[in-house]
Amino acid sequence: TNQIVLASRPKGIPTLSNFRNENVKMPEIKNGEILVKVIYFSVDPYMRGRMNDIQSYIEPFQIDQPIKGAAVAKIIESKSNKYKPGEVIVGMLPWSQHYICSEKEIKKIDTSIAPSSYYLGVLGMTGLTAYFGFMKICKPKSGETVVISGAAGAVGVVVGQIAKIQGCRVIGITGSDEKTNVLKDDFGFDETINYKTTKDISKAIAKICPDGVDIYFDNVGGDISDAVIANINFQGRIALCGQISLYNAIKKPIGPRLQPILLNRSVLMQGFIISNYQSDFPEGIKQLSTWVKEGKLKFTETIELGFDQLPKALLGLFKGENTGKMIVESQMH
Ligand code: NDP
Repeated sequence: TNQIVLASRPKGIPTLSNFRNENVKMPEIKNGEILVKVIYFSVDPYMRGRMNDIQSYIEPFQIDQPIKGAAVAKIIESKSNKYKPGEVIVGMLPWSQHYICSEKEIKKIDTSIAPSSYYLGVLGMTGLTAYFGFMKICKPKSGETVVISGAAGAVGVVVGQIAKIQGCRVIGITGSDEKTNVLKDDFGFDETINYKTTKDISKAIAKICPDGVDIYFDNVGGDISDAVIANINFQGRIALCGQISLYNAIKKPIGPRLQPILLNRSVLMQGFIISNYQSDFPEGIKQLSTWVKEGKLKFTETIELGFDQLPKALLGLFKGENTGKMIVESQMH
């Protein structure tokens, strides 16, 4: 089978040369094991962090070892009593077209609720991130003004719709006019800002939000966040979900001192990692599935075709090549 390994660690922006394709022979499967063929791979911004040799909340990828991430796969052969051929599962799997896993590594999914790829997005890690980050940290109240950066991405489009369900006014920041249109037309955002064509983002926010910003859901960090936080209201809440604008920075830029704003306006700013909420995942999945079934929560994906496209798709996240969840379809089923 084919697999993709980390060939070298990037300095700054990763390139295709940091990855290598390899052909490996699959061993026979043993008792208790399950052979799967991957249908969809998830590529996610946090994978960039794992390419560095730095201990973080998740261990680094190892040189010459496959990249690993969330994936949806079909069972081909099973020597486990719990799983049958033909069933569809989700798990943290290596970038390999086939893989032999243990029962503990995978979970069955219900494809009657939504397409299986949704378990990598709205019904998976990014949906849960949107739900818990927004509900637990931002604690929205009806009528409040919410600003979301990285708004047209996998997490962003879900946060925006949950904010609308909670009765908030929602402003999305993203990097193209095509995406601002999608946010308004398909996802019900009230206002949008294209950060690439807007000279003074802080002024633009002040104009769109005459009553200030009550909640800021931050996916990108950097200058965009400085501009939003300048407009935060008394007792505003800021959820630090991601800082993608800084993930490739060799030298982290120094921004304005924001603490006086947070102090003077009694603002709560909290970072989080989705695994903090692991024990609440069943509740989150139940709520997200209900909204999806009721048609209250829509979703979109950018699907790249072909296993070999995995590295390119991952790098594409940093160029804004996706709307909604970026996924690679292995094209083998
Ligand atoms: P997205 O689907 O949002 O993809 C990334 C998007 O980020 C791109 O499409 C691009 O959109 C935008 N982007 C890329 N570079 C920049 C930049 N320099 N400045 C501003 N925007 C940029 O990814 P996810 O929805 O999966 O993740 C969103 C954020 O949430 C990431 O920061 C991620 O690390 C974080 N995250 C955090 C989790 C947690 O547990 N805390 C869990 C999951 C995700 P555009 O065209 O708008 O530039």
